[in-house]
Amino acid sequence: MTDPRLASLAEQLPGLRLFTAPAELEHYGRDWTRRWTPAPLAVALPTSVEEVQGIVRWANEHGVALVPSGGRTGLSGGAVAANGELVLSLERMNRVLGFDPADRTLTVEAGMPLQAVQEAAKAQGLIYPVDFAARGSCSIGGNIATNAGGIRVIRYGNTREWIAGLKVVAGNGELLELNRALVKNSSGYDFRQLLIGSEGTLGVVVEATLRLTDPPPPSQVMLLALPHMDALMEVFALFRSRLSLQAFEFFTDVALRHVLAHGAQRALDGEHPYYVVTEFDAADERAQEAALAAFEHAVEQGWIEDGAIAQSEAQAAALWRLREGITESLAAHKPYKNDVSVRIGAVPAFLHEMQALLGREYPHFEVVWFGHIGDGNLHINVLKPADLADADFIAQCEHVTKLLAATLKAHGGSISAEHGIGLVKKPYLGSTRSEAEVALMRGVRQVFDPKGLLNPGKLFD
Ligand SMILES: Cc1cc2nc3c(=O)[nH]c(=O)nc-3n(C[C@H](O)[C@H](O)[C@H](O)COP(=O)(O)OP(=O)(O)OC[C@H]3O[C@@H](n4cnc5c(N)ncnc54)[C@H](O)[C@@H]3O)c2cc1C
Repeated sequence: MTDPRLASLAEQLPGLRLFTAPAELEHYGRDWTRRWTPAPLAVALPTSVEEVQGIVRWANEHGVALVPSGGRTGLSGGAVAANGELVLSLERMNRVLGFDPADRTLTVEAGMPLQAVQEAAKAQGLIYPVDFAARGSCSIGGNIATNAGGIRVIRYGNTREWIAGLKVVAGNGELLELNRALVKNSSGYDFRQLLIGSEGTLGVVVEATLRLTDPPPPSQVMLLALPHMDALMEVFALFRSRLSLQAFEFFTDVALRHVLAHGAQRALDGEHPYYVVTEFDAADERAQEAALAAFEHAVEQGWIEDGAIAQSEAQAAALWRLREGITESLAAHKPYKNDVSVRIGAVPAFLHEMQALLGREYPHFEVVWFGHIGDGNLHINVLKPADLADADFIAQCEHVTKLLAATLKAHGGSISAEHGIGLVKKPYLGSTRSEAEVALMRGVRQVFDPKGLLNPGKLFD
């Protein structure tokens, strides 16, 4: 350790694993955005709450900024360390700490991957229902810090709904035990809720107690092909009124082209501009007949052009891959991402305005839309032309994001539905939150992290 600050950290916490090799700094200093050049001071990989507390106290002593880090699958730059910070990776804190059958809760360390949490729940005959394509790599701590959503929000809500209690190390190194998994606790401010979605700026989540629930009844998965954008919300309203939906996700023909080129299997013939993957309860024949009747009604109305229903688990997985494989299939094109939301009732009008805006402003760029349309959440990915410099591409996209942010504001929407603000959306926070709210956020941050060492520069300056 040539840096005296690191030498002192190693001395204070002799068992702590520290990485300083360039390849490791690069690996742990970036997330999926790949926009910033990683340049952390070092990477610390604690294995206990006490070590996390020790690191935070050391950071206070030496004025070193910390970047809490999970699976680094984040899409907003929240886990980027580009300014000499210490990356505090929770990767080695990945154990199940306990299952409580009476409360139906699972307590885990924060670095546990989402998929491992899902499997641990399943082993108890229950489910942890938050789910999305990054499940194998993202961590429950990162999910909590971003209030992650995903493909089952329509049935189960966001991560926030499933957090019964948190253990958090605040900016001064103090350990806070928030809500202790109580179902009812009307005793003042609920700091647990403040920590959810705080993007590593208020505290380091070290442990979480998660609520579990019963597995859903058997389901069916359908792929639907739609002739125009207006049909999306018509079909959604129809299906929601007649079926018990678990998921309702959409994508465009452009998204389909990319995911097929990336290895997914085509499921429908012909060209169609919009697609929906939907999953719904289908425990008995009646539910299946209701689905078929809804489908036929939509066809008669001209809202659906074609469709396929999965006849096996393998087919269901293949249909899901058409939607879930999109983010990965676009990664090589260095997409500029918007992740926006409006109220469900505002979706049709917003879609039209957005389509006009994007068509006008991005005549030469390929724009890929997909997302959780049943939650009012759209992902807009603008692909970088190979011959355009990164900086020029981003400058053009930022200009459009400003316009998009104004449209969102007019519709009462959000510039970040589920990916967090991080670095990417920081300039646009004011389109979603009032000045008074942002001032309160700064005040809250000052209380939890007086020296401003936890993930500085993320969310706001
Ligand atoms: C293929 C793909 C699909 C995706 N699909 C979805 C989706 O459907 N829905 C969705 O919501 N997101 C989605 N994401 C985005 C991403 O997976 C989520 O934001 C996820 O919650 C990030 O978890 P992570 O562990 O990777 O966090 P990281 O990227 O490591 O960190 C994210 C933020 O959380 C903070 N943080 C991490 N761990 C802690 C901790 N223990 N304590 C305090 N702060 C912490 C970081 O500082 C950072 O600000 C997707 C990403 C990919 C690559």
